[in-house]
Amino acid sequence: MTTTPATDTTGAVSTTAVDTVIIGAGQSGLALGYYLAQQHRSFTILDAGARVGDAWRTRWDSLRLFTPAKYDGLPGLPFPGDRLAFPTKDEQADYLEDYASRFRLPVRPNTAVTRLSHDGQRFHVMAGAQHWTAVNVVLATGACHLPKTPRFAAQLRAGVVQLHSKDYKNPAQLAAGPVLVVGVGNSGAEIALETSRTHETWLAGKPSAEIPFRHGRTAARFFLPVVRFAGMHVLNTNTPVGRKALPKMAAKAAPLIRTKLADLAAAGVHLVPRVAGVQDGEIMLDDGTRLPVANVIWCTGFTEAYPWLDVPALPADWRHQQHRGIVDALPGLYLLGKDVIFAAASETLPGVCRDARYLAKQLAAARAPRNDAEVQAGLAA
Ligand code: FAD
Repeated sequence: MTTTPATDTTGAVSTTAVDTVIIGAGQSGLALGYYLAQQHRSFTILDAGARVGDAWRTRWDSLRLFTPAKYDGLPGLPFPGDRLAFPTKDEQADYLEDYASRFRLPVRPNTAVTRLSHDGQRFHVMAGAQHWTAVNVVLATGACHLPKTPRFAAQLRAGVVQLHSKDYKNPAQLAAGPVLVVGVGNSGAEIALETSRTHETWLAGKPSAEIPFRHGRTAARFFLPVVRFAGMHVLNTNTPVGRKALPKMAAKAAPLIRTKLADLAAAGVHLVPRVAGVQDGEIMLDDGTRLPVANVIWCTGFTEAYPWLDVPALPADWRHQQHRGIVDALPGLYLLGKDVIFAAASETLPGVCRDARYLAKQLAAARAPRNDAEVQAGLAA
């Protein structure tokens, strides 16, 4: 699949006209790319990273997926090997890289989008001096991209090592002395368990819940299929139970999957209340306890933000005025791989694949131009 170079505009800016620009070459962008390639559409996939799979590759060293291999493949290429195993983050990254090259998807690495605007007819996507025009733009930039840390983190005394889970790799990054992990989602629980092997570790907060079975091969065979079914087919915006539950689920961390409170207690992790703030440069907990630690790892989640989105006509809450990834306020703008776009599973590999298939069908139904010549003719009109 190739994109169509159009005329160069002024100075250093080179312009390429395509039917669809996908921003993000993670699993979402690649899955959608697979379907668009099948439709013989003109499209490109832009990614800020140097290599396909970097969103996984750059996560902490010991991370394994929670989803078994049988659910980790993208359309047209099952994840290789043992279907009940839980791939490492590097195996997942390499699988995605192989996927992109096997299906010859038009990924442009090292291409961070810096501006997305709309002139009333088509989109303009800027990445440095490069410029694309497009009929459709899909925001597949991930749900775990921009780390969220509380403002009071800046008041911690100098000398405390602070990391967000996005930047945590292994305990060698930490200073000697106690560690506080803030946030009891899955990242917080897994990282606290790991740091407890080398450092005295506190874990602040409370989990939303725990899955009621032991994660592993048996779960992959018997229980995770049930969880997957519920996350895909029951808890979605087409069902009354889904419409009721999804807003509540979006406001909370996911239940603990692999590392449970009992595992943490057995490893000697001290469970403490939520962090209330910082006093005299030290962490203060909700119950007033001050915790002088040498390291803080913020497992406080991520923010979805599009600082480069420059479409003044979009209403402030455009992100929530969407149906299965189709943004109501601006025809041609789509979301994929974000929290609860359609179902509880929308941010996981199986959910992303289904949502990508749905979006591809919608794009086909929208009867946008199908080949490069038509795109050129449409844009020239
Ligand atoms: P991502 O994989 O985040 O990819 C987004 C891409 O967009 C990145 O490559 C990024 O470089 C690019 N990008 C962002 N901004 C720009 C820009 N301005 N210009 C150009 N490119 C840009 N899911 C599962 O199914 N199973 C699991 O076991 C699982 N475990 C997880 C464990 C952790 C610790 C985390 C954080 C997430 C986990 N997930 C898991 C969720 C999963 O990794 C993805 O977050 C989700 O599936 C969304 O994928 P994506 O392709 O939309 O986003």
